[in-house]
Amino acid sequence: MARQRKGILIVYTGDGKGKTTAAFGMAFRALGRGFRVAVIQFIKGKWYTGERHFAKKTPGIDLDVMGKGFTWESKDLNKDKAAAQKAWEKAKTQIQSEDYQIVILDEITYAINYGFINIDDVVSQLKQRPAAVTVVITGRNAPDEIVEIADLESEMTLKKHPYNEGHRALLGIDF
Ligand code: ATP
Ligand code: MG
Repeated sequence: MARQRKGILIVYTGDGKGKTTAAFGMAFRALGRGFRVAVIQFIKGKWYTGERHFAKKTPGIDLDVMGKGFTWESKDLNKDKAAAQKAWEKAKTQIQSEDYQIVILDEITYAINYGFINIDDVVSQLKQRPAAVTVVITGRNAPDEIVEIADLESEMTLKKHPYNEGHRALLGIDF
């Protein structure tokens, strides 16, 4: 009999708002079930977001932000690449560890699409992950190679966003 896979691969992509918050909504649900959740945010981590504050004081969720300690103003692509690779190495360890039922790779699509991390490595790691581990990928323009092996893909379609009317990002809503 084929190995029972309990964990699934989820992709939240598209241009509309709701990808990262969908992943965190699921984390919230999973924590309520006593699961452990790891989040790696593949973003420039200079600003403290609401989710970072919340994760810090919430048991059961470990959140890391790529390149937390860097000065990103330098616009140094090599530094970005090094930070992305370091974050990906940590993600691999967390996926393999089986310490977490859910691993969220937030905005990893950018790191892949910029060529900072190797798509073949990502695909092979996802394929060979422990059976009970669910991985969530978020970010615009999810690569076809990942969508192909995903069990679930939801695309957030941009219909309306106040940003397009000149509004700024809102505290507690956007960050
Ligand atoms: P969220 O984190 O709110 O779920 P997201 O993960 O779907 O959003 P990203 O592409 O990661 O969206 O964008 C990050 C930031 O930009 C967030 O502050 C988000 O609220 C905002 N945002 C999301 N979609 C749009 C959009 N279509 N236009 C402008 N800003 C957006
Ligand atoms: Mg996001």
